[in-house]
Amino acid sequence: ALLQQAEIAMYKVKRTGKNNYHVFMIDDAAAIERKRRIEFGLKEALIQNELYLLYQPKVKMITGEIYGVEALLRWEHPILGLVSPVEFIPIAEESGIINEIGYWVIHEAVRQTKEWHKENKFLSVAVNVSALQFEDPYFVKRIQNVLELYELDEHYLIVEITESVMQNVDYANKIIKELHDIGVSVAIDDFGTGYSSLSVLNNMFIDTVKIDKSFIDHVISKPNTASLVKTIIQMSKSMNFKTVAEGIESIEQSLFLKENNCEFGQGYYFSKPIKPEEVVKIMTDKKP
Ligand code: C2E
Ligand code: CA
Ligand code: CA
Ligand code: CA
Repeated sequence: ALLQQAEIAMYKVKRTGKNNYHVFMIDDAAAIERKRRIEFGLKEALIQNELYLLYQPKVKMITGEIYGVEALLRWEHPILGLVSPVEFIPIAEESGIINEIGYWVIHEAVRQTKEWHKENKFLSVAVNVSALQFEDPYFVKRIQNVLELYELDEHYLIVEITESVMQNVDYANKIIKELHDIGVSVAIDDFGTGYSSLSVLNNMFIDTVKIDKSFIDHVISKPNTASLVKTIIQMSKSMNFKTVAEGIESIEQSLFLKENNCEFGQGYYFSKPIKPEEVVKIMTDKKP
């Protein structure tokens, strides 16, 4: 706590003299304090069971049938309340605790999916994996161990990576190949937001392309975005990848994607991320 005070005090000094320093000072000190709480809190979170997963359904566009889910991490901090993964994942990456959290996520998602299978709901589950986890030399072995522990058919597990993992295509492909060898498939998340071009898809061993929400947002309002999304879908298809559109919020977007042969979709229009018991409940409901 003393160190904390000192750091905040230092920050105050640094800012002194600037215009509007008062406002900046308070904001920055609060931000540092919050970040610190999150960093320390994450270690506690694992021990105190503050983490849990919600599952967002993924549907087949043609039938509206739910075929799988994406596991999304949630953290209820005792004081800060619900903290978004957008905020705490980067901090977890910075502090190195992401690996431990990442394995907790894989365990929990695989365990839950096996429960669904026992109820004859043969859903696939996608887990988000940080670039740092991908670098762990035991990554594939650990996943294999979890699958064996819960006796889940490995073909139901999908690992979602972002384009940042692809900075080193050769290394990424090596790991992806190892994942394939144990029956696990790989999706590239947020496609189109990173630096990789469409042609890079050609060199990747991935199985699924997830078109980022920022494109889906404008498929109705912007003709340019509409053509771009059409191109991504066609390209992805021609390379034999599955295509998932994420962030579908309206019936118009849903119809556009269906008409343009996007096979799979995900978004609030179909369902928000929900608790595991709710997934089973809504599985009979279908949307156009
Ligand atoms: P993501 O992997 O791109 O996940 C999709 C995010 O968009 C989720 O936010 C989801 O709730 C939200 N979303 C889905 N459909 C819609 C929609 O129709 N409209 C809107 N406005 N939002 C929609 P969430 O759960 O807050 O997660 C944010 C990000 O945090 C994820 O983005 C992912 O990058 C990261 N994340 C979440 N869980 C994990 C995890 O277990 N491990 C790692 N490494 N990252 C995670
Ligand atoms: Ca994802
Ligand atoms: Ca995404
Ligand atoms: Ca994202």
